[in-house]
Amino acid sequence: MKFVAYSDHDHIFIAPIHYAPPKEQWCTPPTAISKLPSFETPLLNLQFPYSHDLQTTLSGKQLLLSELSFDLDHIHHHYIHGYLAYHAGITTEKGRTYCQRCGNDDPQLFATYRCARCDDMCTYCRNCLMLGRVSECTPLVRWCGPELKLHPPQKLLTWTGELSTGQARASQAIREAVGSGCELLIWAVCGAGKTEVLFSGIEAALRQGQAVAIATPRTDVVIELAPRLRSVFPDVGVIALYGGSEDRGKQGQLVIATTHQLMRYREQFDFVVIDEVDAFPYSVDQSLTYAVSNAKKPQATTVYLTATPSPELKRRVRKDELAAIKIPRRYHGHPLPVPRFCWSGNWQKRLKKGKLPSIVRKWVEEKLADNKQAFLFVPSVEALQRLVDVLQKIDSRIIGVHAEDEERREKVASFREGRTPILVTTTILERGVTVANTDVAVLGAEEAIFTESALVQISGRVGRSANHPRGDVLFFHYGKTKAMVEARAHIVAMNDAEVR
Ligand SMILES: [Zn+2]
Ligand SMILES: [Zn+2]
Repeated sequence: MKFVAYSDHDHIFIAPIHYAPPKEQWCTPPTAISKLPSFETPLLNLQFPYSHDLQTTLSGKQLLLSELSFDLDHIHHHYIHGYLAYHAGITTEKGRTYCQRCGNDDPQLFATYRCARCDDMCTYCRNCLMLGRVSECTPLVRWCGPELKLHPPQKLLTWTGELSTGQARASQAIREAVGSGCELLIWAVCGAGKTEVLFSGIEAALRQGQAVAIATPRTDVVIELAPRLRSVFPDVGVIALYGGSEDRGKQGQLVIATTHQLMRYREQFDFVVIDEVDAFPYSVDQSLTYAVSNAKKPQATTVYLTATPSPELKRRVRKDELAAIKIPRRYHGHPLPVPRFCWSGNWQKRLKKGKLPSIVRKWVEEKLADNKQAFLFVPSVEALQRLVDVLQKIDSRIIGVHAEDEERREKVASFREGRTPILVTTTILERGVTVANTDVAVLGAEEAIFTESALVQISGRVGRSANHPRGDVLFFHYGKTKAMVEARAHIVAMNDAEVR
């Protein structure tokens, strides 16, 4: 689409070409919005009968025109009367190109093509393409009329479960943080029961009419969490957002979203929980940090939830820049299983010959004999395929799963249902998957992919249920690493921490 900038009583405004005033007022020829000189949004006309539908759809968001199911005439009228603002999606500052939706400024993540819509060479952002194309000729539209009022629901939290001592302390700290505008880290061991810890804080925020978001890097978590929250907050509009979700475009007071989906929001949330703050891809993708900070209001309260805080978060805690509460015990009160180390020799060389290190073979045979299910983590897809080939000769029910595996869900389900005795996996299953009464081993624990945090998460798969709080964690290695030692120290320290 092309816009023109025009002058009106010493102000510069813009209009899509079809809604432009007479040519005498134009300051520029029609062009892409990003190529216009700076422009203003007209003052709010309080007499204008604005659309409540548009207000509901657009409040707290920044959307492409293609994401709005209103005609352009209707939309532009709201601009003329000061109820919405157009922003260039792509901007250039001192020769550097920025995407205003995802914050990308990496030249390699932009592309330029001959665009039919603006009839010119047009640059677009590749980094957030999965949310719809932001290009030089696509404006981002934001609401700037009266704020949408959120009304506290009649009935709030219906959960009546009990919290462990550690959970109760964290829960109270979160509740007290609501409305304070501060940041809080909840450092909870794997299996601490961190979802329940949020309930009371969410309730306090909702009671104050606040908009609440829970952001997580993983779609699985959104899908799992949404029904739980709907059942404990039955009167609250709970919206679940991930790629392909049906709730897209809906407004609700409690939003559970993948971090990507937050890119559609702008200064919307008063209370934000960031789950698994350290997990890929949040920790490596700067644009997700940008998305979270854009989506929350400047005075928002932020809660980080994780079992394995990044070195940066730990540093901020040590320097007293960030308040932290530890939950060092699992909800069932039993200590975390501590990993054991076991030297396996050059396992890669043996695998290439179609053989297993004898110590690994012994472990596999023991699990099968004891009828004890186990995860076996490996550092790469290549190692996974080799290992599965060898193991299937021992027991044909043993299978492997990795990120690109099309049967991933079916295979995990088969393990859950007990049909698979040993599931060989890459690090994709290091989090989230909870199966009662399993053991865990890592083959090649010395490889760089097994960071301290990955190893802590992997160890956290064991002993999660109250009925089976114990289990075995074994790291097969060809040379002990710092990460292995630190992971074990991390777990021992949590077990030793005083539960107040
Ligand atoms: Zn972008
Ligand atoms: Zn274009």
